[in-house]
Amino acid sequence: MKNITILGVTGSIGQQTVDVCLHHQDEFNVVAMSAGKNIVLLETTIQKINPQVVCVIDEKDCNYLQEKYPHIRFVFGSGGLDEIATIDQVDIVLNAIVGFAGLLPTIHAIESKKDIALANKETLVVAGHIITKLVKEHGVKLLPVDSEHSAIFQSLQGNEKNKIKRILLTASGGSFRDKTREELVGVSVKEALNHPNWSMGAKITIDSATLFNKGLEVMEAKWLFDVDYDQIEVLIHPESILHSAVEFEDTSVIGQMGTPDMRLAIQYALTYPQRKKLINGKSLDLTQLGSLTFKKPDFNRFHALSLAYRAGKTGGSLPCVLNGANEMANLLFREGKIEFLQIEELVEKAMNAHELVKDPTIDQLLNIDQWARDFVLKEINETCRRL
Ligand code: NAD
Ligand code: MG
Repeated sequence: MKNITILGVTGSIGQQTVDVCLHHQDEFNVVAMSAGKNIVLLETTIQKINPQVVCVIDEKDCNYLQEKYPHIRFVFGSGGLDEIATIDQVDIVLNAIVGFAGLLPTIHAIESKKDIALANKETLVVAGHIITKLVKEHGVKLLPVDSEHSAIFQSLQGNEKNKIKRILLTASGGSFRDKTREELVGVSVKEALNHPNWSMGAKITIDSATLFNKGLEVMEAKWLFDVDYDQIEVLIHPESILHSAVEFEDTSVIGQMGTPDMRLAIQYALTYPQRKKLINGKSLDLTQLGSLTFKKPDFNRFHALSLAYRAGKTGGSLPCVLNGANEMANLLFREGKIEFLQIEELVEKAMNAHELVKDPTIDQLLNIDQWARDFVLKEINETCRRL
């Protein structure tokens, strides 16, 4: 029996993790969970799972829930997150918080010798240099939940001693994959949120449309699999069936395929190295699909991808700037305050204005993340004033 903490339980990944755990109750015991502000969904989840400790963002929600469920312990804020990421009895922390907010709980969980099932890719993007060191130092496992990275991880099983020649990182292309750059002018939030293959949280769905998601995943792959950026090749694969692949020195390409279902990647991270039945999992019917297609991404069309390679190759604090600026610009777009194409424009401006820190500490990263967000807000306010 594995004892689990689920961070971000009310999100898309969090709820699918609950689904996996409920279907394998003989394998998994969810000891603790965290949520943001969706208290209604949190309550439904508490009633299904009956955890021992629950963390929310606000003290007021914490007090309300404590009164209603006296047999459960409720905690709140960053202190509460740290507490549930480090509980003695917990073996593995599944981090499905969205954004930079997932960084500190990951660090504290590793320092408490917990294995990490990582959905929160932003953690590795901003602090890959720190996380990979901590993982080695504390002898814990860092298991990918992102479907592409799970596919690469699965492709590497039994090949740990063989050198990777190339990683083929597949991308659906997001909601606007068939639009030219000119056609992206004036696209709406609703259109951007309409992803062709996956149902996900709002931030990552917009990131898929800009391709910042793929850019973040390039950096995530660099840290997870210890490869150079030149070894990571992005392929547009609209069917989302080949979830990614690895080419070895002998030119053999090994990949992982399946119907798009995040529960598989979540479950594999939790049951690794074993495989278990995926309840209601849909088998892949290749004859029904008939063909799979692949093409190189156009880096001018998907400028966000160029920015991500630039940030990754430069390293230091630049990925943190890209990430923080993108989180803010992504939010402003969802709030209807900026245009779609302004997202990458603002991220690029923030990257250009930043003074690089070569080997940033956690405290420096916290400041740089805030600086990038403030920079984007200031840019928008100044533009509004000028108009
Ligand atoms: P989501 O928006 O659906 O859920 C996010 C969760 O984090 C919610 O429980 C929310 O309450 C919580 N949260 C948000 N801000 C918080 C904060 N400041 N402090 C504490 N908790 C906070 O997001 P999602 O789509 O489930 O994605 C979660 C992570 O997994 C992201 O990093 C995303 O890139 C990654 N991921 C998601 C998918 C997917 O299919 N959804 C696939 C691959 C990777
Ligand atoms: Mg992915």
